[in-house]
Amino acid sequence: MTALAKVNDPEIKRPITELGMVDAVDISAGDGGAEVLVKALLTVAGCPLKDTITRDVTAAVSAIPGVVRVGVELGVMSAEQRQGLHETLRGGQAQREIPFAQPGNLTKVFAIASGKGGVGKSSVTVNLALALARQGRKVGLVDADVYGHSVPAMLGVADARPTQVEDLIMPVPTASGVSVISIGMLKPRRDQVVAWRGPMLDRALVQMLSDVYWGALDVLLLDLPPGTGDIAISMGQHLPGAEVVVVTTPQEAAAEVAERAGTMASMMHQRVVGVVENMSYYLHTNPDGSQEKLEIFGSGGGERVAATLSQRFGYDVPVLGRIPIDVALREGGDAGRPIVEAAPDSPAARELAGIAERLGGRGRGLAGLQLGLTPTSKF
Ligand code: ADP
Repeated sequence: MTALAKVNDPEIKRPITELGMVDAVDISAGDGGAEVLVKALLTVAGCPLKDTITRDVTAAVSAIPGVVRVGVELGVMSAEQRQGLHETLRGGQAQREIPFAQPGNLTKVFAIASGKGGVGKSSVTVNLALALARQGRKVGLVDADVYGHSVPAMLGVADARPTQVEDLIMPVPTASGVSVISIGMLKPRRDQVVAWRGPMLDRALVQMLSDVYWGALDVLLLDLPPGTGDIAISMGQHLPGAEVVVVTTPQEAAAEVAERAGTMASMMHQRVVGVVENMSYYLHTNPDGSQEKLEIFGSGGGERVAATLSQRFGYDVPVLGRIPIDVALREGGDAGRPIVEAAPDSPAARELAGIAERLGGRGRGLAGLQLGLTPTSKF
């Protein structure tokens, strides 16, 4: 049992021994040592992660001196056992509570916003999540982009459906260690359109925050839909302590709408922690080997948004980083292997890792707390 306590359920990320998943351990004398048969119980039949559990259990028990053979037999929890697991996971907590909004919660929550679509908000969110995980943090990612919900595909789990234990939903684990839940996963079918009005979107957001078992996270990232719509308002109401990162391109038109998205966050009493300028330039290599920065979308958008928001809010809103245009970034997203993992030494990946470090290193001081003030300036 001590050896098995080192095996975590890949979705719930807690030891299988704590979760009541070890049904029986049969030990018999074999040729040259002990033969062990572990009977483990899965939360649902056809659990997509049974190979992972089998492999991890085998490795953990094989490491015990004297064990010569390990077998794993998988069963499925009974309704009663699932209820027991559900209670363990809820930990006595009342239902429909958002853990990230409770006093004393230690998870840093960052919402990634943009004025309009196509500026790379989802790409930035996914890469920041992976970079934070690579820096040793436990990261959860909520894809609340009703229009795009492209995050699962970018993480290589486009067709994954979350496992459910009673009314608790398990976020989908990814190879990078980041757990993800997407508004797209709440639809019955992948090709279905999300044609929801405000109250329905609000319920979906609350569900992704309170009905999903996130466990202890260091950082939770939310990929918001572009603009200043219903989800942004719901997010402000349900997660007043969340901090907002605004993504823009250098282009004037993008910067202007990004300022509005930032101002919206402030109206919801959320702090804007900085601006990420994406698609800032393209690093072109000349025939002689020298490199130059081609500013394809113009320049200055990030600085402009940062300066405007700093002036409007009366606190410093810095530019957190400038990410170049990189074909590898686009390809990594399309292939489900984001650039911070596929090409960590590329300039774009380094910039993203730098931004992640700045965000991850932020303390949760007074600066992040809401004061309940609303800016009086026009937006
Ligand atoms: P948004 O979430 O703002 O709608 P996406 O992250 O979906 O934007 O990005 C839009 C498209 O631009 C995607 O195809 C993405 O791969 C690509 N893209 C984003 N940022 C970059 C970049 N820095 N270099 C190259 N392509 C990028």
